Amino acid sequence: MQSSAPIGTNPAPPPALKPPVDEATLVHKHVLRGPFWQRIPAYREVGEEQFLDHRWQAKHSITNPPKLLAALQGLVSETFIEDARQGFALAPMSVRVSPYLLSLIDWENPLDDPIRIQFIPLASTKLPDHPKLELDSLHERADAPVPGLTHRYADKALFLPLDTCPVYCRFCTRSYAVGIDTDAVEKYDLHADENRWQKAFAYVASRPELEDIVVSGGDAYNLRASQLTLIGETLLAMPNIRRIRYATKGPAVMPQKILSDHEWVDALTAVVEKGRKLHKEVVIHTHFNHPNEITGITQDAMNRLFERGITVRNQSVLQRRVNDSVATMRLLVKRLGHVNVHPYYVYVHDLVKGVEELRTSVDTALTIEKNVRGSTAGFNTPTFVVDAPGGGGKRDAHSFEHYDRETGISVYTSRAVKPGHFYLYFDPIDLLPAAGRARWSDPRERPAMIDRAIAAARARVR
Ligand SMILES: *Cc1c(COP(=O)(O)O)cnc(C)c1O
Ligand code: SF4
Repeated sequence: MQSSAPIGTNPAPPPALKPPVDEATLVHKHVLRGPFWQRIPAYREVGEEQFLDHRWQAKHSITNPPKLLAALQGLVSETFIEDARQGFALAPMSVRVSPYLLSLIDWENPLDDPIRIQFIPLASTKLPDHPKLELDSLHERADAPVPGLTHRYADKALFLPLDTCPVYCRFCTRSYAVGIDTDAVEKYDLHADENRWQKAFAYVASRPELEDIVVSGGDAYNLRASQLTLIGETLLAMPNIRRIRYATKGPAVMPQKILSDHEWVDALTAVVEKGRKLHKEVVIHTHFNHPNEITGITQDAMNRLFERGITVRNQSVLQRRVNDSVATMRLLVKRLGHVNVHPYYVYVHDLVKGVEELRTSVDTALTIEKNVRGSTAGFNTPTFVVDAPGGGGKRDAHSFEHYDRETGISVYTSRAVKPGHFYLYFDPIDLLPAAGRARWSDPRERPAMIDRAIAAARARVR
């Protein structure tokens, strides 16, 4: 009889069915640490304590080309700065970039850097908007009984208590309201006004079917601790409310706040704990788009929230040259899981003014989805969605009733939200085959393409 190994010694591992994996290739685990910001001329003397201070980050954020130039003295060419100057002038969004993000950009090659592409507009890459594009393509204002409260779905609503953010993303779907007026857009006013909030609360309390409130913006990071508490406690006190999500891009663009703004994090924790005692869920929804946005500072910040039992979920926007490859999206999803953030959605880029070069096709989203699903836990696998232009709500990207890759028109229905309606998404024209591009260049052909797409969808729906 063979004796088994004594307890405490490791038996040899059973024969492998898969080839061995080198630990060094598990790149999702390797987050950037160390004083990486000191590569930027303006931050060469900045120590860790200062860099981790969220007030320092906010105070030194870049809002115009002269500040950008001053921070990057000698690191970028004159041509780049001039391109950015013209890009800022054309942009529908205000510009605001934290020193943290600025330090994560590869300044050896800023043209191709995924963080530069998202935050610093350049005139040279601009494409014309799609002819079917409109400001507020999701019709958030049309579904708002009170300014800043969109009640589209039966049991959940979107509350926009403020219109500022710690940074401004070029691709923001809410460029109709978020940020300060730009040369290109005069904004719809959603500033933090507690009288307006009271109207929104009164509406939410009056609708027994509402259970779930997304507190977005703008960005919940910019709520004062007392405002975060007021909103959380008011909503938790309503018997109909079961779930609250605070939406903030903060963890992705200024994780320092979670490590250094104790008042804000304690206020958040208190709302989460109060909710837990009432058996109601309060979570954070955040917005990472690229694996480079997840550093050692992010990991420390997410650990802080995890220790406090605060769930964090992620919503990404699929963007051309940022995260529209299988390898990047797989790495993003794995790295998010590694820092205990659950990937929830990847949005096909909304039809947003002034950023046509960032949009991708539905087909790209479908291909990436097929390659990501299965690469990690199912609960860490995002659903790829199209937020149906015109107010149909979020639809699984695969669930179109009709999709013509030549015209780039996909048609979705939204049976739970607006039964009987058809919603159209349009791929960017420059990515279409030549035949499709030719058809869009003829304005008389446009309504015919759209009518045909809707007819094809109608024939399929039952
Ligand atoms: C996204 C969104 C919600 C929340 O939808 P989920 O699919 O539950 O994340 C609620 N209201 C509006 C208007 C939205 O756009
Ligand atoms: S943080 Fe969110 S709301 Fe603010 S600009 Fe970016 S995408 Fe828009």
